[in-house]
Amino acid sequence: MTVIHTPTPSGTPACVLGPTPDQVESLAAYRARGGYRADMAPEELLARVEAADLRGHGGAGFPTVVKLRAVRDGAGTAVVVANGEEGEPGSVKDRWLLRARPHLVLDGLTHAARITGADRAYVYLSDPAAAAAVRDALGACDPDPALRVEVVRTEPAYVAGEESAVVRRIDGGPALPTAKPPRPFERGVGGAPTLISNVETLARLALLASDAAATGTVLLTLSGGGLPAAVLTEAPYGVALARLAADHGVLPPSGVLMGGLFGGLLPPSALRLSLDRDLLARAGTGLGCGAIRFLAPDECPVSVAADAVDHLAVESSRQCGVCVSGTRALRDTLVALSEGRCDADGLAALSRWAQGLPGRGACGLLDAAARLAGSLLTGFPDLVDAHRSSPCPTCAATPPSGGHRLRVPVPVPVPVPVPARDPVPNAAATSVTAALPHSPAPACVG
Ligand code: SF4
Repeated sequence: MTVIHTPTPSGTPACVLGPTPDQVESLAAYRARGGYRADMAPEELLARVEAADLRGHGGAGFPTVVKLRAVRDGAGTAVVVANGEEGEPGSVKDRWLLRARPHLVLDGLTHAARITGADRAYVYLSDPAAAAAVRDALGACDPDPALRVEVVRTEPAYVAGEESAVVRRIDGGPALPTAKPPRPFERGVGGAPTLISNVETLARLALLASDAAATGTVLLTLSGGGLPAAVLTEAPYGVALARLAADHGVLPPSGVLMGGLFGGLLPPSALRLSLDRDLLARAGTGLGCGAIRFLAPDECPVSVAADAVDHLAVESSRQCGVCVSGTRALRDTLVALSEGRCDADGLAALSRWAQGLPGRGACGLLDAAARLAGSLLTGFPDLVDAHRSSPCPTCAATPPSGGHRLRVPVPVPVPVPVPARDPVPNAAATSVTAALPHSPAPACVG
């Protein structure tokens, strides 16, 4: 089970989690909170997006205003896509958002269509519960009569949410990445300029349109570190990882797996870092999709790295030869290290691959595998050295599982019967399971 931690009134408002994150938000409740307002001119909303510096929440953190303008100014009528395919095993926020607050995402998608001039929109996902929630929401309301919205299902896969894979799948092909360019914003679905936006990003776009503070926080999936259950929460940018860990009862970790599998494996000293894109980038890592896995004190970073790269090797779509051979070599060498069978040549090869493989695949999966190996070598040199000479009992007890132990279950929000007149939800009824006493941030109406 994954629990949801909502901030308290003295802490950061839960902009995207909203007041009832354990329930499916009804149309009436969403409207009562100021949703589906269409009174803001697209140019005005675009200016807000720029002023708020809204970034993508799917992984790369690209400025949303740049994408919106590029698609709006492209040749042909635009297409917009809400990308809810969440391939990271340690992340649940996108599927939760679609399951619990589908109207918020659809509202953001509608605003993105108005800004770009799109007349077609897609919600792209693999999660059956999320698809059902979105279909129910579309059945309850037509967000914009001028916009045709369609739900497109895909098979779950690590690379299925990559932008070019999204375009291929919506066009009727397999959900596999392609070499770039052209990028989707130039030529995407059906050859049209296409905005592919993560569902949390769209949710924040909708909040901006309803006058809410929407960009000071980020959805996080926290797991590991001795937590009895993974946690979905919303935290302000700027909070230190150490504070985040302490607030949620994480035991002193032996390492941190950042940004799902994309931010690498960091040593305990990284707890001084805070949720700040620039700071994290300078430290060679990133927040990515907001999944943070704290390693338990008795967990070995070598075994976690081997397991994570094993997962990526399994998930490789096997289109690029360098990815097939590269992920396999990285995985085999890390497994050898975990079993005390890696010599100096093996370590030298690991280091060489960590530096030389990034950028050589058609998508970022190979980069993630290389970064995991490289971050293990640079962040845990003594531990790596110790593994060369003798087998590690912890690694022996936790052999690679294809990333199975990195998976986090998605919270299941409860459908709420729609009353004749939907009341404004009572914040006191929210399932608050922990407090996050962070410094206050601007109020929002999420
Ligand atoms: S880098 Fe790997 S996962 Fe990405 S497209 Fe190539 S083979 Fe597939």
